[in-house]
Amino acid sequence: MKDDGHKRRVRASLLGSGIISVLVGLGWSAAFIHFDRPVLAALNGGLIPFGIALAWLAYQRRLKAAALLAGHFLPLFIAVSCLFDEVPDGVHRATQMHFLPLALGVYFVFRRGSIYMKYVVSAFCLIGFVVFSITSIGFHDPALVIPASAAEIGVWANTLTAMAELVFVVVIMNADLSVRRMMDIEMRKAIAHGDFQLQYQPQINEAEKVVGAEALIRWRHARMGDVPPAKFIPLAEESGLIVPIGNWVLRAACAQLAQWEVRPETQHLTMAVNVSASQFRQPDFVQSVSEIVRLSGVTPSKIKLELTESIFVDNVDVTASKMNALKAIGIIWSLDDFGTGYSSLSVLNSFPLGQIKIDKSFVRGMLSNASNMVVTEAIIELAGKLNLQVIAEGVETVEQLNRLREAGCLNYQGYLFSPPLDIDAFGKLLSPEPSSVEPLSRHMPELPPPGLAHAGVTRPSSS
Ligand code: C2E
Ligand code: MG
Ligand code: MG
Repeated sequence: MKDDGHKRRVRASLLGSGIISVLVGLGWSAAFIHFDRPVLAALNGGLIPFGIALAWLAYQRRLKAAALLAGHFLPLFIAVSCLFDEVPDGVHRATQMHFLPLALGVYFVFRRGSIYMKYVVSAFCLIGFVVFSITSIGFHDPALVIPASAAEIGVWANTLTAMAELVFVVVIMNADLSVRRMMDIEMRKAIAHGDFQLQYQPQINEAEKVVGAEALIRWRHARMGDVPPAKFIPLAEESGLIVPIGNWVLRAACAQLAQWEVRPETQHLTMAVNVSASQFRQPDFVQSVSEIVRLSGVTPSKIKLELTESIFVDNVDVTASKMNALKAIGIIWSLDDFGTGYSSLSVLNSFPLGQIKIDKSFVRGMLSNASNMVVTEAIIELAGKLNLQVIAEGVETVEQLNRLREAGCLNYQGYLFSPPLDIDAFGKLLSPEPSSVEPLSRHMPELPPPGLAHAGVTRPSSS
């Protein structure tokens, strides 16, 4: 999950659910022990370790694991509890009430995630609610029945806590919706007013010369300050605004590339542009990219479109044919963040890729984790055999650079050389003062990195 407000609200929901589960588990276990119902006490006691594990995972920011745990455990737990929920005559069963907030919560948490969790698990909860409300399906073991007066209190407690959970989920969803609405309005204004900008991060070859740049979008908002792409790109993807934004990025990057092409000292530079999955999925994607590239007049083979692995879960034929159509006019496809997705290595030869970008998490883990190094070496070797160019992103230290070079990776991008720069600073990086014409990394003191020093910019604290 990307680091934005949605992620914070998901974390709050999961942390809250973990704590509530522990309290509910303690409360019910104590009540069933009091009524000498050890089976029910043990069953409800199961909520305690679950709640602790959930809160711990959420606290550790392992949100995917936490959400998957909750999304699987809670529906099953409620279903089993309903089967054991043996009420005396005249009292209604109420455990199934918890299915309602759960259905909504699962839908919210997995709104941007897997279809299985978003629809199948939510549907299971809704069906569970209906079935256990209308039928008396269950184990019907008289030994489980508790006195009618206590059972009635239990029904009230179950119904009230389920309603409280429902309010909690709705409040969080509402807060999320308000922020999304506000961001949507602000993004529309930014498109209309031309408030987005591009920065360019140099890409370096084995001789430590700048051979290209990756165009990265920037949004400086008057009130919100610098809004990172990780915060607004996922929202733009959901609302469809990624299409005008992505087209603007491509047009602006091509316009810059056209300027580089007319100057001898910059005409060799390539331009990498990120393409988000929902932008790629547009039916007229190939047509609009071809049109933008044609109108800009740039050499298409100097454009690298960066896709992430998420696109390869789509229809293989459609994806490959779109990629082939743009490859046919010369555009190069680069697989961004390689190693972070779930696709198999077969994507490397099933799609017309020209480059893979080793994700920065591998580069970061390479020196501390031997298996990361082995995987990185294997990726580089495999890419070489498949005739794919390899570039490593997130190169921050000379040690990482040396290890990558030893492993056979000869193209790099990262703070060691330079952060993303606005176009003036990028120009200065390309034409350094006569006193600093050695390869980039040689210029750089440990902190800040050398490329930054002669480009006259400061090193950002994070991506
Ligand atoms: P990405 O395409 O993988 O871009 C690399 C990100 O890593 C950039 O973050 C860059 O500033 C950062 N980075 C570069 N060198 C280093 C380093 O040495 N260490 C670390 N820790 N980070 C480094 P940024 O600009 O915040 O962009 C984040 C993501 O947002 C991008 O990841 C890309 O997925 C998306 N994005 C950015 N611009 C665009 C765009 O124009 N269109 C689309 N669709 N997505 C974009
Ligand atoms: Mg990229
Ligand atoms: Mg990347």
